Amino acid sequence: MKYYSTNGSAPEATLEEAVRKGLAPDRGLYMPERIDRPSDEFFRNLGKMSFQEISTTVACSFFGDDIPADDLKKIVCDTLCFDTPLVKVEENIFSLELFHGPTLAFKDVGGRFMARMLSYFISKGRKNGNVTVLVATSGDTGSAVANGFLGVEGIDVIVLYPKGKVSEIQEKQFTTLGQNITALEIDGTFDDCQRLVKTAFLDKGLNAEFTLTSANSINVARFLPQAFYYFNAVAGLKRAGIDEAPVFCVPSGNFGNITAGLFAARAGLPVKRFIAANNRNDVFLEYLKTGTYTPRASVQTIANAMDVGDPSNFARILDLYGHSAEAIRKDISGCRYTDEAIRHTIADVYGRTGYILDPHGACGYQGLKDGLEKGECGIFLETAHPAKFKETVESVLGKEIGIPQRLRDFMTKEKQAISLGKDFSELKDYMMSRI
Ligand SMILES: *Cc1c(COP(=O)(O)O)cnc(C)c1O
Repeated sequence: MKYYSTNGSAPEATLEEAVRKGLAPDRGLYMPERIDRPSDEFFRNLGKMSFQEISTTVACSFFGDDIPADDLKKIVCDTLCFDTPLVKVEENIFSLELFHGPTLAFKDVGGRFMARMLSYFISKGRKNGNVTVLVATSGDTGSAVANGFLGVEGIDVIVLYPKGKVSEIQEKQFTTLGQNITALEIDGTFDDCQRLVKTAFLDKGLNAEFTLTSANSINVARFLPQAFYYFNAVAGLKRAGIDEAPVFCVPSGNFGNITAGLFAARAGLPVKRFIAANNRNDVFLEYLKTGTYTPRASVQTIANAMDVGDPSNFARILDLYGHSAEAIRKDISGCRYTDEAIRHTIADVYGRTGYILDPHGACGYQGLKDGLEKGECGIFLETAHPAKFKETVESVLGKEIGIPQRLRDFMTKEKQAISLGKDFSELKDYMMSRI
């Protein structure tokens, strides 16, 4: 399968090139040249298949040209060491719980899959030494990437994070791992961390010594595997005796998660339509209303993983729909919620049903509640465990919520980080000292 760039002026890439590069040389995003549909038998049997079986079949449809079925099956099964259960919250509204992985957020799926696919390509073409993944994080990406790559052969991960600007829980999730993961605590901001990473990719001296790669969410190996759980969600509905196609509501920031759903739909997923739920960062909703896309600086909200003012995967959505706002509107609608509305939803749903939402899932729930039409059935993506946003959720509910054991395990471990200033020379000296 060939991958083309949304900007149209980079050469087509193989899957391996697209995964190794992340971004195309013309700064566009890679798109698969076609989307294959699994067999009719797959769709007939969906309700009887396990998550791993469903995902292996979908993975073969997406990546089967480039990776033999047995290898793909291994990558999928290693990735999915946890389930994504569908939980009924109330009549016609279901939560697709994506927080049962190691860092309790949906990014575990893409992070783990990308790590294993990259490791597969490295082991095939091993030239000299390891690949080094450099990642800057404001909190959540670092933990999903670090845990996804933990112990994966042939890869070293260096996480750069701004000192004192991530929560204690987040920090523990990438500074306590050891093995092939190193955390660098930078005396600066997230933007400094990102600048350091970008400078490193361009630095001749470092590139002579290291094979550097990024692991951000625009990588095809990170966003496409997210299609797996959309199929698992529909399988869950079938198991619950519901055969109609659902409406999916996706709490969205960079729009990678919803784009994976659009790819699933192109691959034959039974789905009625999509709703993109936003917090106050609502450039997509604005685009749906006006047909004009105007990126802006993000504003801070209590659903902070959705605080994005220029969603990177918007380019993929435009490409999928031939740049037609009208075509996009037929499949996707939008909604936005203020912090106050998010708090209200968390309290209301808990009061009526006992179900505890996190601030991101709350946008997803409310998007369905407001958008579902009579007789429709809907699924929202619960993208993180509420305990990851403990203070916010507890302040709304007025009571303590349980912290899952695997999150508590991180808290008991010792932080190990190397402190550096924000000058590139310090990062470079440190990296050279690793040789
Ligand atoms: C990253 C993230 C999102 C946004 O997902 P996108 O794929 O960027 O749209 C939503 N919720 C949580 C908890 C996240 O970590």
